[in-house]
Amino acid sequence: MSSENIEICPVCKVQIKNDREVIFSAGKPGDRTKLWARVCQYVAEQQKGCINQDLAKISPIQATDGYKPVTFEQKE
Ligand SMILES: [Zn+2]
Repeated sequence: MSSENIEICPVCKVQIKNDREVIFSAGKPGDRTKLWARVCQYVAEQQKGCINQDLAKISPIQATDGYKPVTFEQKE
């Protein structure tokens, strides 16, 4: 039995598998919460049509859900 259901968000271009698992174009798969924390919360106002705007499916965002801040170190 293989009934994979894959949706692609037309705004974020991210695949959502079986309504839960989010396949990012880079990095490890995540979930809707991670997707929202990283992408969807920023596009929601400007572009309608994002399929990951159902807050009932999004958990409270943890610190680990966002991208880690990137710090650049310069060493001499
Ligand atoms: Zn989206």
